[in-house]
Amino acid sequence: MSAPERWSECMDHGVRVAADAGKMIREALEKDISIMQKSSPVDLVTETDQRVESFIISSIREKFPTHSFIGEESVAAGAPSVLTDNPTWIIDPIDGTTNFVHRFPFVSVSIGFTVNKEVEFGIVYSCVEEKMYTARRGKGAFCNGVPIKVSGQEDITKSLILTEMGFKKDPENFKTMMANMEALLAIPVHGIRAPGSAAVNMCLVACGAADAYYHMGIHCWDMAGGAAIVTEAGGVVVDVTGGSFDLMSRRLIAASSRTVAEHIAQKIRQFPCGRDDAEN
Ligand SMILES: [Mg+2]
Repeated sequence: MSAPERWSECMDHGVRVAADAGKMIREALEKDISIMQKSSPVDLVTETDQRVESFIISSIREKFPTHSFIGEESVAAGAPSVLTDNPTWIIDPIDGTTNFVHRFPFVSVSIGFTVNKEVEFGIVYSCVEEKMYTARRGKGAFCNGVPIKVSGQEDITKSLILTEMGFKKDPENFKTMMANMEALLAIPVHGIRAPGSAAVNMCLVACGAADAYYHMGIHCWDMAGGAAIVTEAGGVVVDVTGGSFDLMSRRLIAASSRTVAEHIAQKIRQFPCGRDDAEN
């Protein structure tokens, strides 16, 4: 079997596993949700995050035993977060845990698959909306099997922009985050929204419902699946400086056009957010 055929087989399996994982999440939404804290009082995790990640990893490992994994909850439990050339599944079992605990309806399963550190395909299942977004490198992006594409908007003043605003331990970083939103609103842009799931945000850009998404402080498991979907939908994914996107850098701009991405890069200031592959 050639490499492209082999990755297609992986993707088909990944889509089935994501659909099953989404069903587990929908069922969990019907029951009581008990919440635990991770790094701060606003960094939440539930038993469902952990159970869904174990299910996804074991279902994939059973079929592809030599592959590597970077999963949000495995890393939280102490597993390494280092990207190698080996085929690697980068998994966020629930992207939007805060939405999940509030039953705010943007909750997704995000899977990115890399080979030689390049994303080969992305899968984002927005499981309350039952939208399965998929993209394979060079083969386009789809929602429930229907091709999707970005708005193509080039004018920032006609753009709807997504970001996420969260608690920042460092008051300077907090100020920068708020000042960045102010700078964009003052251009002015049509608006800023924070739907609460990075992966869904990228899919909203990919299908033209929003024109850009920027964020500092997220993780590779939030970005890997969605970045492939934006790129294959004809959008651009760059660093917040406007330079090349780095999956382990914890920051990105995803946009409908390079012009809009560069305009955002010019307007926002960066704050330090570390790297996923840093030693600590
Ligand atoms: Mg998560």
